[in-house]
Amino acid sequence: MPVVRLGNTEIEYTVVHSKRARNIRLQIDIDDGVTLHVPPGCRESQARKILFEKERWLLKKVKEFQSLRMERETRLKRARREFLYLGKTYPIELVRRVTNGLRGGLQGGKFIVEAPNDIPIRNIQAHYPALFERWYRQQARALIPPRVQSLAAQYGFRYRKVFIKNQKTRWGSCSRAGNLNFSCRLLMAPPRIVDAVIIHELAHLRIMNHSERFWKLVATMDPRYEEHEAWLKQHEHLLIL
Ligand SMILES: [Zn+2]
Repeated sequence: MPVVRLGNTEIEYTVVHSKRARNIRLQIDIDDGVTLHVPPGCRESQARKILFEKERWLLKKVKEFQSLRMERETRLKRARREFLYLGKTYPIELVRRVTNGLRGGLQGGKFIVEAPNDIPIRNIQAHYPALFERWYRQQARALIPPRVQSLAAQYGFRYRKVFIKNQKTRWGSCSRAGNLNFSCRLLMAPPRIVDAVIIHELAHLRIMNHSERFWKLVATMDPRYEEHEAWLKQHEHLLIL
């Protein structure tokens, strides 16, 4: 990986020669790090200049993403002990039973994981993400469609179907056919955020873009939408399995 030295900081980056890129572009992502997109006909040495031109921005972003990654690491470690549901944390308790396979669910203020006696704890914990995902999906299927229905009725929207997915990068989406999709991980967020995402997608049934008109429509249903959008931006790296 090439490295650029900016002040006292060395930053690794990936170079992508992209046929479709029109301009030299710098991108930063929590997983992929810094990427330099080089358009056709541009030399890499030429493209590299942007790293120095955007030095201040880049240094700031790299720092920001480092702390996001650390926060996420901490969250992932805690994900073995603390279960996140509708904005609250519940302790995870492992109960040994004569059972085959792993089961789990919220019971009396705890997330109880039932596991067979003979499986070491590490192996059980390795299955937590799949177990949790299954549970979030179930809850999402039970909770989200009725909530969509009631908000749609309240604000006069018509949609076709609601699908629950586990999209990595989106909390919700709306198709041209009028179907609404939501990520099951949305149930990690507080209820007001779940509502905000539903309202956002309902509004897309009428306006497919993020124009001023769109945000005005959202504001009529969710006057604090800016706060809710900001909450998601700040926390989405923590709402992981
Ligand atoms: Zn949108």
